[in-house]
Amino acid sequence: MKTRFAPSPTGYIHLGNVRTALFNWLAAHAQQGRFLLRIEDTDLERSETVYQQALMEDLRWLGLDWDEGPDASGDAGPYLQSERSAVYTRYFELLQEKGMAYPCFCTAQELSVSRKLQRSAGRPPRYAGTCAGLSAQEVEAKKQRGLPFTLRFRVPRQGSVSFIDGVRGRQEFSCQDIGDFIIRKSDGSPSFFFSNAIDDALMGVTHVLRGEDHLTNTPRQQMLLEALELKPPEYAHISLIVGGDGAPLSKRHGSKSVRELREQGYLPLGVVNYLARLGHHYENEAFMSMESLAQHFQLQHLGKAPAHFQEEQLLHWQHEAILHADDQQLWQWMSLVERDGLTITQLVPAERRNAFVHAVRDNLTMPDDALDWAANLFCESGIYAADAENIIREAGSGFFQAAVASLADAQDQFKSFAGAVGTATGTKGKKLYMPLRAAISGELYAQGWNSDWARGPQMAVLWELLGAARIRRRLELAAALAAGG
Ligand code: GLU
Repeated sequence: MKTRFAPSPTGYIHLGNVRTALFNWLAAHAQQGRFLLRIEDTDLERSETVYQQALMEDLRWLGLDWDEGPDASGDAGPYLQSERSAVYTRYFELLQEKGMAYPCFCTAQELSVSRKLQRSAGRPPRYAGTCAGLSAQEVEAKKQRGLPFTLRFRVPRQGSVSFIDGVRGRQEFSCQDIGDFIIRKSDGSPSFFFSNAIDDALMGVTHVLRGEDHLTNTPRQQMLLEALELKPPEYAHISLIVGGDGAPLSKRHGSKSVRELREQGYLPLGVVNYLARLGHHYENEAFMSMESLAQHFQLQHLGKAPAHFQEEQLLHWQHEAILHADDQQLWQWMSLVERDGLTITQLVPAERRNAFVHAVRDNLTMPDDALDWAANLFCESGIYAADAENIIREAGSGFFQAAVASLADAQDQFKSFAGAVGTATGTKGKKLYMPLRAAISGELYAQGWNSDWARGPQMAVLWELLGAARIRRRLELAAALAAGG
């Protein structure tokens, strides 16, 4: 099996197109096949090298490496369509020799009038065949006059084209519904139908998974390949991604470019775990590695119904990715963010790094949160969340003075310390633990998805992380804050 991703580098890739890349990657890896990357940059006006580089970077970041394509091996290249003009020319000539393609001199204005006429007659607009019967002399004369022309494929007037779609089953299109279509534009560049189909066949692609918006292109592409005696791949058209309101996914629904997700701190494996389930069903709801996702990927599990994008789901898999990352990976991820020139590397003492990651890792959604924790826990001046500050004031300065005094009885353990504070202040449960948590961690609630105050970083773990001197200082700060200082 050989699958491919064939993006046009006209912008940064979004979740929708990267899911197509992912499905192709998974399908290939499920069968120990190959995954190919082809850059469809025939539209020279809109294609940009920066986007090509960006999409390659984005794919690599997600772990979607390619076996064939730019910067990789493979003997079916070049893998940039802009470098394949000679190949296309050969096939344009072949079709013309076979009488299956002809030059069309119709102007944009003529075509638009013809479309309007057909619409008003209640017929679907398609090419009226004006130039289909031009003689060789007529064609020559028009060329002599320097008239611009396109090349059209001559669609059989009768019969139908059918194929089995990997998701939607048997599809049949009547040739009568397909007008002779353009395969070479007037500037000499190939149309999408043409270069895309020819390259799939020449590059030995066996399976194409692509968006259902391409479904009606497939009969045209089948006809072309048949005319050229090239083997078409098997096609599977995947359902589109829609937002909660059923409309195609857009920025309004929280759809972002892969680049934006990375910059925000999403972890690649979380994104991939989500996308692999968007329109594809896994029996197993557990977080999986790329290899397991591939191993359990099945074409039969691709859904026909539109896939609903939900940002909460993306966040769910982000948390899973955090939980499954090791401490060192997380430290690196956290150290990427900077706020007001401050990073966690400056805030967390080097010898406390591992303990810090360990303490906060279950309470993070984005690397920014780690920076908040680092600031809360290690800023000497004390930083308190508003609700934590309220609890500290409510508990009163006497509570914290008693807590400072209880340090002597703490035997270096949070449990003994809390017991001693409880006895000294006559408090227990929330009344005891909430002010202690607020004073020591600067936070009342764990951030992000944990909204249960008792589920923040464990106090015993914070106790170890901060060490006796810092704990004392924080309790003193809380006492001062409660006293109105
Ligand atoms: N370049 C086309 C696109 O980006 C490829 C479509 C396909 O996968 O066949 O839409």
